[in-house]
Amino acid sequence: ESLFSELDDIPLDPHYALKEDFSADTSPSKVILGSGIYRDKDGKPWVLPTVVEAEEIVKASEDSGRYDYLPIPGYAPFYTAARDLLFGALSSPEENFVSVQTISGTGANSLGAHFLSNALKPSAVWLSNPSWVNHANIWKSVGVAVRSYPYWNPERKALDFEDMIQTLTLETTPGDVIVLHGCAHNPTGLDPTKDQWKMIANVCERRELFPFFDCAYTQELTRDNSQGFASGNLDEDAWALRHFAFRGSMELAVAQSFSKNMGLYGERVGALHLLTGSPDAAGKVKGHILRLQRGLISQPPKRGATIAATILKDTTLFQKWLADLCEMSSRIKCMRQALYDELISLGTPGNWDHILTQIGMFSYTGLSPEQVSSMRNDGHVYILSSGRISVSGLNNANVKHVARAIDKACR
Ligand code: PLP
Repeated sequence: ESLFSELDDIPLDPHYALKEDFSADTSPSKVILGSGIYRDKDGKPWVLPTVVEAEEIVKASEDSGRYDYLPIPGYAPFYTAARDLLFGALSSPEENFVSVQTISGTGANSLGAHFLSNALKPSAVWLSNPSWVNHANIWKSVGVAVRSYPYWNPERKALDFEDMIQTLTLETTPGDVIVLHGCAHNPTGLDPTKDQWKMIANVCERRELFPFFDCAYTQELTRDNSQGFASGNLDEDAWALRHFAFRGSMELAVAQSFSKNMGLYGERVGALHLLTGSPDAAGKVKGHILRLQRGLISQPPKRGATIAATILKDTTLFQKWLADLCEMSSRIKCMRQALYDELISLGTPGNWDHILTQIGMFSYTGLSPEQVSSMRNDGHVYILSSGRISVSGLNNANVKHVARAIDKACR
């Protein structure tokens, strides 16, 4: 007998369940396109060359204090450089900003949810339908009602913009929190246009919604890879967030991750930023955030933050980082094209243009759960039942096989 016997059974997180099933499959042709982890052209993890250089610099400057605790807010050179990367010129004057280092993007979402649920007592948090699965998990765990606004239209394989605006206008309560994906929306790979972002900002302003941006892919994959960060224009990825901030009428929060854009997944490098309406408010927010941080993790980890700060603060390394970003996004873009070309040459039923127009690591294929399980059973291709594929798991050696599995499932 146990006090816990009455607890619900919680199924394994779909990502981990997928990995377990994949590991148990003995087929030599098996392919997994699950998690958002970058893989190189040979399907191998990739340590960014810039990160290797930064590791050397960090190592050379380490002393006997290298395992000391960081302060509660984390490593200041890191979280200030991270803030500047997101907000650009808007970061100064600094007095209205509060920034702290977190356990990557997940920790930033979670710390932000703890803080906003206590401070604003929202009647609900609004998440896109669909959204990153952990958003609902995080907000439920702080006791806030989770509601969703329309986002993906499965028939049109496009943004459900009118319904989104209508829901946000008619169903929200002033003081509610709205989670917005900064760019490269997970899982759909579909972002609003700049004009649509302006309309979303109008609704947030009118309805007094508190915007909480989640920037897990910002500075990684621009909406137009032919310019964007290929030309070093990182600003494009942060456009929506900066537009909200620039209006000056709304306070907002941002969860920032360096997992994907620096490939520092396991180092857990991230930050939470709050842009408040006054230096006085910023001071109060800081006190509350630091108390929460103390209770949750005491201090964030050191190593990854020093690596990221070294890259962000050194002009030469920063330029090299842009080239690494470009390598990742170009390969992903080539793989989108390769998958599309294979499907067209097989004459696979349906329209596949969205594979080319979506951006970021993921493609939301529109495949049904039945088609997904037929790909797994017949082709040993493992993707999430939502139909999302991680494009970075594709390479020249497996793309034909994946296309054939999709083709078969669609007939
Ligand atoms: N937010 C979104 C939308 C994500 O897709 C992810 C990772 O997949 C994260 C946040 C957090 O990732 P991490 O905790 O590794 O920074």
